Amino acid sequence: MKINREFIEKIPKTDLHLHLDGSIRLSTLIELAQEINIHLPAYTEKELKQKVFKDRYDSLEDYLEGFKYTSAVLQGESSLERVAYELAVDNIKEGVRYIEVRFAPQLHQHNDMGIINVMEAVNRGLSRAQQEFNSGEMKQTGKEVPFHYGIIVTAMRMFDYGYSEYFDSLLNVHRHSVRKWIYSLASQELVKASIEARDRYKIPIVGFDLAGKEKGYPAVDHKYAYALAHKNFLKKTVHAGEAFGPESIFQAITELNADRIGHGVHLFNADMIRDEEIEDKQAYVENLAQYIGDRRITLEVCLTSNLQTNPDITDLKQHSFCKMRKYGLSVTLCTDNRTVSNTTVTDEILKAVETFDIKVKQLKDIIAYGFKRSFFPGTYMEKRKYVRQVLNAFEKIEKQFK
Ligand SMILES: [Zn+2]
Repeated sequence: MKINREFIEKIPKTDLHLHLDGSIRLSTLIELAQEINIHLPAYTEKELKQKVFKDRYDSLEDYLEGFKYTSAVLQGESSLERVAYELAVDNIKEGVRYIEVRFAPQLHQHNDMGIINVMEAVNRGLSRAQQEFNSGEMKQTGKEVPFHYGIIVTAMRMFDYGYSEYFDSLLNVHRHSVRKWIYSLASQELVKASIEARDRYKIPIVGFDLAGKEKGYPAVDHKYAYALAHKNFLKKTVHAGEAFGPESIFQAITELNADRIGHGVHLFNADMIRDEEIEDKQAYVENLAQYIGDRRITLEVCLTSNLQTNPDITDLKQHSFCKMRKYGLSVTLCTDNRTVSNTTVTDEILKAVETFDIKVKQLKDIIAYGFKRSFFPGTYMEKRKYVRQVLNAFEKIEKQFK
């Protein structure tokens, strides 16, 4: 059978790499900005799409421009809750049944809203959407796969804030290392808050993530934070190999114990290796890919986003996704940012199917990886049952389309 949009919409799906601030509905962004007097370059969806949230971007900086506006409107509990709720609803509507929503609480907290308040607000929104679907629509049909979610807390490799410069000017020595030390401490504080949120406030914080500029800000600077997460059974993912080479992925796995890798698009790019001690670069890449495959470290692949932020990939066919599959790696398709990348889970899967000629059986594997390698907040047995339910539903829909 030929996979079409209708089939993809019907099957249960996941999104394991999904940024809250990059996925706000444009209509909501406009409404919230007007409410709290945030200046936007335009106040209609059409114009915003032309000016900020474009189909193609000139550079990563250009891509990141939109986040200035989305994070500016997400500085209150009600806006966080609303955007989280709408994000879950939008996913449910297109048949996504499990999401892991990530955001950097430190970019939203301020004197009137602590880090736990930020997490609680997001959780209220997600939980409301979950309850509405699982107790309403789902009950009526009686045979739907329930909707579940987890929250991933993102630490930043670096902040653009003035405070680090302030510290630098005070000490006026080793500027870069002082800054890095502050970022490392910020990550450790974030892990502690995440554990408290999970254990004391029962917020389903399931994972820890690291994002931000890779160049000059290696993941290894955050190893203490990751060690603390590891010790406390928080699962771990790291944005790596998005703008930097295979060494960045190696570091995420060996120093940070990453269970999953965000993007990993440059996994096979041996020519991006900078460490002079690595003599046989090809062998290094080969060993790394084999290790990732064997350990079932899952790659969160975001096709549209990668194409938008890597100008060297001019055609999706050149994306390393094809090679990842050839090596038998565990891959899952994600949106990254629904609004900034102007995409949905259905769009991403359809793109993959059309570009890489994916057959139903292969798609079923990819869908299964998403559910199996998720940081599901329930027990392992509950997770297994859920995965079984998903696969049963998949098979049933497959029969209907034959
Ligand atoms: Zn991301």
